[in-house]
Amino acid sequence: MIPFFNMKAEHEPLAADLRSAFDRVLNSGHVIMGGELTRFEEEFAAYCGAKHCIGVGNGLDALALALRARGVGPGDEVIVPSQTFIASWLAVSMVGATPVPCEIDPATYTLDVANIRALIGPRTVAIMPVHLFGLPAEMGAIMALAEQHGLFVLEDAAQAHGAKCDGKRTGSLGHAAGFSFYPTKNLGALGDGGAVVTNDDALAEGIRKLRNYGSSVKYVHEVAGVNSRLDELQAAILRVKLPHLDKSNAQRRYAAAIYSHGLAGIDGLQIPHIPANLEHVFHLYVIKLKQRDALQAYLQERGIVTLVHYPIAPHAQGAYQMMNIARDSLPLAQSMADECLSLPMWPQINDADVNVVIGHIRDFMGRI
Ligand SMILES: *Cc1c(COP(=O)(O)O)cnc(C)c1O
Repeated sequence: MIPFFNMKAEHEPLAADLRSAFDRVLNSGHVIMGGELTRFEEEFAAYCGAKHCIGVGNGLDALALALRARGVGPGDEVIVPSQTFIASWLAVSMVGATPVPCEIDPATYTLDVANIRALIGPRTVAIMPVHLFGLPAEMGAIMALAEQHGLFVLEDAAQAHGAKCDGKRTGSLGHAAGFSFYPTKNLGALGDGGAVVTNDDALAEGIRKLRNYGSSVKYVHEVAGVNSRLDELQAAILRVKLPHLDKSNAQRRYAAAIYSHGLAGIDGLQIPHIPANLEHVFHLYVIKLKQRDALQAYLQERGIVTLVHYPIAPHAQGAYQMMNIARDSLPLAQSMADECLSLPMWPQINDADVNVVIGHIRDFMGRI
């Protein structure tokens, strides 16, 4: 049996440090908005190569609060990838703006810059590139286009902590970035968590206020904010895990390289493509093939767990029925929903397990 993800393998070597982080918080008597959060915010901002980090309750809130602090709201349009985890779209909906889907690049699965231009209209205020599966979008070209049109660029970096574009880390590439610390993400807490990273002083201050009931001075509320904070316990846990992030990303890349070596050159099977200026952190290792469902069943019968990210594209979800986007109007998003398959991936997955998966996929592809 090969699971899809193994969280125990990640936490076992850190168990003693995680317990002492818990004790530190327990003994401090401070559980919300204390020193652990402040220090994590400093450490994560420095890691990303940006000025500010603001811890919030989860990744969805990180994206929504960044949009709201920037003044994005009803009547505004935000360009989003046609295929992504639905939270990218939901963040736009949460502030009352409209997500405008842009077809992705079929090789990298991130925003195709060539398709963005045609979608920019009088209501467009922002672009949200998603660094899907751990591969950064082509941020150089996106930022250049955004600058021409005066648009705000918010990275959805929920799957790409530590990934690089042109030598710079996610979080330092756009005007702001939203991160998730959901437990299975590359940097995960032991519960929900998220953060916004930005170089923009005013935006950072706005988000700090919004996340805490719209207040920067106790019981003085300048705006109608929300309660979305990263608690001390999660911040302390993230501080234990952050120093190991580069190593665990390298381990993911190592496993991915074995997959890609073993799966290269099979007719009808697309493996991840990594442009030379980008560094992938393989939140997910995703292949694409027409016989996806049959392969998934074949692997399942042999004890190998795979998942589909994501089986229904956002525009085809009930949540976006009111937008009346024809199902076949976004063929790339649809083909990803129909043909993508995520293979077992976690930092400590060993060569033998990866090779077992490769062997079964090669056998399957040889039969069809
Ligand atoms: C996980 C994820 C989010 C949302 O993060 P949560 O912490 O689960 O709210 C947003 N966008 C993408 C691409 C994600 O993978």
